[in-house]
Amino acid sequence: MRFTEPAMRPPQEAESLLLRATQGCTYNQCRFCYVSRGYPFLAATPEQLDAKVTSLRNRFPENTPIYLTGSNPFAVPVETLHGWLSTLRQRLPRFHRVSMQSRIGDIARKSDAELRELQALGLRHLYIGTENGSDSVLRLMNKGQTSAEIVEQLLRLDAAGITYTAFYILGMGGKGMGRACGEATAQMFNKVHPRLVTTTGMTVFARTPLAEMVKRGEFTEASEREKIEELQTFLKTLTADVFYDGIHYLNPLNYRFSNRDAGAKQRVLEDIDDVLRSCTDEELELMASRQLKQSL
Ligand code: SF4
Repeated sequence: MRFTEPAMRPPQEAESLLLRATQGCTYNQCRFCYVSRGYPFLAATPEQLDAKVTSLRNRFPENTPIYLTGSNPFAVPVETLHGWLSTLRQRLPRFHRVSMQSRIGDIARKSDAELRELQALGLRHLYIGTENGSDSVLRLMNKGQTSAEIVEQLLRLDAAGITYTAFYILGMGGKGMGRACGEATAQMFNKVHPRLVTTTGMTVFARTPLAEMVKRGEFTEASEREKIEELQTFLKTLTADVFYDGIHYLNPLNYRFSNRDAGAKQRVLEDIDDVLRSCTDEELELMASRQLKQSL
């Protein structure tokens, strides 16, 4: 079994021991998605994981965090997850924690008892593409989940003691939907307990179904101003005790702060006000395209 998809990791896992768990995505139908397309879903066997961790373990501290790469490794059967976690515990008995990406449906397919067992074996954190709190927008992007399902499954993770990072895409609703999405998404996160909320700005990538929708006039991108207004509404509505991390290069503005820190939040909101007041639409678009070019 040979993996050909380039491995990716969230910025927060830069110091972790990265091990290839899967390639491809079991769902592969989100209209905006450019990752994993064209890669058949493959999952590492415990033997493959064993060989990899054995070859790398001496380069990391014995209590290293471990990140299993792949678009949704948590989709694999519970027995496979057991096999992976047992292998890791055998080779690195004192590892700090294991984390990986998951879809909401991957959690739904596991029982409460299975979630608790996996937590006890060392699975402590999931990264989840929650993306948006508006059901009409989730439907438009064919995300395959509703906001009620997101809340239900994240509360199950809370009960099992598995922490999570929630991804949110600013501008996903397209032109005219920014403020409604900001409010719906904050209200959704206010019902659950993400450790971290991290945002990216919606970008229409070539060769995606979304690019075709744009050509057919079925989707109009939100302007950078509207994405910033969405962020403003989102942050004003967000009351959950979470850390906000917006340093991704596709974000219109980059902030990192704890939502519990009222002073930090106030400074961020003032800065957003200032940007919206002092920059023209052209300047905001230019800032965004410069960031995108620098990243390519
Ligand atoms: S679940 Fe993630 S990787 Fe899979 S298609 Fe959707 S956005 Fe892409």
